[in-house]
Amino acid sequence: MDLSFTEQEQAFRAEAREWLRANVPGQLPSLDTAEGFERHREWEHLLHDAGWAVVNWPAKYGGRDATLVEWLVFEEEYYAAQAPRRVGQNGIFLLAPTMFEYGTEDQRERFLPRMAHGDDIWAQAWSEPGAGSDLAALRSTATRVEGGWRLSGQKTWSTRAAYADWAFGIFRTDPDVAKHKGLTYFLFPLNAEGVTVRPIRQLDGEVGFAEIFCDDVFVPDADVLGEPGQGWSIAMSTTGSERGLTLRSPGRFMATADRLVQLCTSLGADVDPAVSAAVAQCWIDAEAYRMFTLENVGRVLAGEQLGAESSLNKLFWSQLDIDLHETALRLLGPTAPLTGAAPAVTEGGRWLDDYLFALAGPIYAGTNEIQRNVVAERVLGLPRG
Ligand SMILES: Cc1cc2nc3c(=O)[nH]c(=O)nc-3n(C[C@H](O)[C@H](O)[C@H](O)COP(=O)(O)OP(=O)(O)OC[C@H]3O[C@@H](n4cnc5c(N)ncnc54)[C@H](O)[C@@H]3O)c2cc1C
Repeated sequence: MDLSFTEQEQAFRAEAREWLRANVPGQLPSLDTAEGFERHREWEHLLHDAGWAVVNWPAKYGGRDATLVEWLVFEEEYYAAQAPRRVGQNGIFLLAPTMFEYGTEDQRERFLPRMAHGDDIWAQAWSEPGAGSDLAALRSTATRVEGGWRLSGQKTWSTRAAYADWAFGIFRTDPDVAKHKGLTYFLFPLNAEGVTVRPIRQLDGEVGFAEIFCDDVFVPDADVLGEPGQGWSIAMSTTGSERGLTLRSPGRFMATADRLVQLCTSLGADVDPAVSAAVAQCWIDAEAYRMFTLENVGRVLAGEQLGAESSLNKLFWSQLDIDLHETALRLLGPTAPLTGAAPAVTEGGRWLDDYLFALAGPIYAGTNEIQRNVVAERVLGLPRG
């Protein structure tokens, strides 16, 4: 097996690194604030105009026709450069792959270029108060009317929906068939008549989520993704992206592992050998995840579908993220809880902040308990519990 990058990939890496070095801004305000959201949107515009927003998309939608391997290379450079978080991630990494697979050409032309440029930031409107793990239990409905559908019901935990422009949601269009069968996938603007977005304030005071209430919201037929009744299988394609290749690329964890090694090195001889060993294990795990992902990309390029195996991926990256940050807090010892401008704080408290977010990893994108069920039943073929 040849694990080296081609000359073209290395040239691509050098070009990306140079552009990022020259253009990555200093720290932006949190994207869970109104101001931070817009500052991150401006960054998306800049990325797009330089051709880096969606490198592996076709040029006609705003990409540069890069290969999947080049996309992974870009992600490595992006995270190594400590570039801003991608405010458009739900659209770019979750909806877009689904739209390439199931969308009409009209939908791709209307939505993808605006998504790539950051004009439309998308939110995922799936979960409901009574439908999280058991998503197919959702109760929001869509009723047929002339020229389209009327949406009603409540969605919750919609990341970035407080400031986003559009949502992709699943609604029940046929209550008389089995629960996985009567669902349809809709695209709707969050400023449409009948939509109420209620921000959810987190413990840190910022607005990372929102509830979305739909009260007889009209959606034209042209904004149904796929066929009515096909919502579940299309949603499974989105979750394949969420758990598999696109949402959490290895670059994110490798950059964190490198920062962890630097933190450990900066503390010199004072580090407990058990903690040094944990640092080494984290770095090895991040590298293993990178190798595993490259292997997956090879399989995808050979025409294979990852299917239920994407659950393995999700289990691995979510645990890795916790391990990386927990190890950093162990290294920081008594100064770990410091935040902001406190004397003796490290990186403004970023390790603690990111640790708290890492704790959500086993919940979002489908909880890890559910992913273990998927691995047990559909990857290993064990009997249902
Ligand atoms: C940071 C974050 C971002 C999110 N962003 C979005 C978003 O943008 N859009 C969106 O639609 N949703 C989003 N969610 C919601 C997320 O998808 C749900 O929280 C998740 O699917 C779990 O659903 P639930 O919260 O209703 O928990 P429940 O489904 O009620 O589960 C509660 C517990 O029971 C366990 N459990 C449930 N069923 C089983 C079973 N059959 N076997 C074993 N254990 C089981 C679960 O693993 C969990 O531990 C987000 C969540 C988080 C934390």
